[in-house]
Amino acid sequence: MLTNYVYKLRPNQTQDLKISNWVDMLRSHYNWCLNDRIIQYNQQFVQGDYSDLRNQVEACPLTCFVSKNGATGNPWKDGKVDFEGKLKNPRRTAGDIQITSLPKLKIARPWYSGSDSTVLQQNVKRLDTAYRNFFEGRGFPQFKNRSNFTSFTFVMGIKIQGNKIYLPKVGWMRFYNSRSIPAKDSRTLLGREPSWFQWLYNLSVIPHLFEKGYIKACAVRKRQNGWYVSLRIEDKSVPDYKAKSLQDVVKVIGCDLGITKLVHLSDGYQIENPKFSTNKKVKRTLKIRQRRVSRQVKGSKNRKKTAKKVGLLHQKISNRRQAYQWKVAHKIVERNIDAIALEDLHISGMLRRCRVKIEEKTGRFLKNGQSRKKGLNRSISDAGWGELILKIEYLAAKQGKVVIKVNPKHSSQECRNCGHIDKSNRDGEKFICVECGYHEHADIGAAKTIRDRALKMVRGDSAKPGTMYLDAQKVSPRSKSKCGEFGNPSHRDIKTEMS
Ligand SMILES: [Zn+2]
Repeated sequence: MLTNYVYKLRPNQTQDLKISNWVDMLRSHYNWCLNDRIIQYNQQFVQGDYSDLRNQVEACPLTCFVSKNGATGNPWKDGKVDFEGKLKNPRRTAGDIQITSLPKLKIARPWYSGSDSTVLQQNVKRLDTAYRNFFEGRGFPQFKNRSNFTSFTFVMGIKIQGNKIYLPKVGWMRFYNSRSIPAKDSRTLLGREPSWFQWLYNLSVIPHLFEKGYIKACAVRKRQNGWYVSLRIEDKSVPDYKAKSLQDVVKVIGCDLGITKLVHLSDGYQIENPKFSTNKKVKRTLKIRQRRVSRQVKGSKNRKKTAKKVGLLHQKISNRRQAYQWKVAHKIVERNIDAIALEDLHISGMLRRCRVKIEEKTGRFLKNGQSRKKGLNRSISDAGWGELILKIEYLAAKQGKVVIKVNPKHSSQECRNCGHIDKSNRDGEKFICVECGYHEHADIGAAKTIRDRALKMVRGDSAKPGTMYLDAQKVSPRSKSKCGEFGNPSHRDIKTEMS
């Protein structure tokens, strides 16, 4: 199974400088490629005479921008002919063209040659991914700034020895070996348990076992407190479990995600929400540190230092949340069940701002409840449901369990006794049906409703089918990459209680 291992890097000063320069350079390359594609797209609509959109002057085919830039190079692949003698996928994508034009770009910009060529290629592929997301209905690729472009990826030439990692064109770099890396085919090679092998490995006796293709990718990322490396490894000690087929699903657990309690399970368990960034103490600290920044002179060194402190606090909060979510996800998935039923939430829709209200006569803005909604929005973001769902999906895929997503509509308003749906059925945590008087804990009831809906879907008599994740392959790659990252275990136990 593909797994991610994250380590903190210990670059020396030269390496630190080098990789920070790389990030800046790759960011400008990314933005250049994006701009290139946008211009190229616009040029295609220019009919008649050749023209350069940038300076709006007429151009001849030789001097025209179209024939010069990378994205509009030769649009056809060199004849790869398949069995029937036809050209196989002859058209080159914008990504292909930009990748093949990289050597030319390196000549034009000599400072690019200081970086590894696969890193530059991966950078173009990153833009490809952004475009693919766009074609699937998400937003148009953005130009990146310093805050949202902090990483780059190697796909070849990574070597590991003890607590040192070799990054091409950077050299050997130390890292905190906080977790031993599973070795390739540890069981089949030695016929022993990996623990024995890992003991050997930790002594770095057999580093040569990290053969080509074993480490699939290696992403280097800058965070507030330094550099991290995330290794994507094909871990043979974790087999690709076969998911249960839907016919075999008998026991299903329903999860209702909330804010006062993070998760309500259909078997009556409740999982506490520690509110990592919205509890009173953290909120106060954040406020004080943020205020300190805003009172300092813009562009001053002291302001940068204080801003860094705010960043570190944010990172700490996020680490805590990640660690807790892993524990919660384990707690849910490791139950004696075949499937987990989750709500199919549209979280970005829930975080949307209130519509603007304007007085018709005067054109003044009226109160629209946004200031009230702001607090709720923060609580929703703080709970991090989306991330939690990804982790549950990942762990479920690892254990061969099924995740069923159901439509959560009216799940906490519907009476489980008579099916009556009414807003007034619910009063805070209590649920009392106005029709038949049935009463129970509202959120646990909702979890049970979600479980029942999932069971209905399993038996195939649902009107609205949701999404089902049947095996590890179908879990989105995003969940895999997200899940392995930055899980920093804290030793606080998950508080669970019976209601
Ligand atoms: Zn009822």
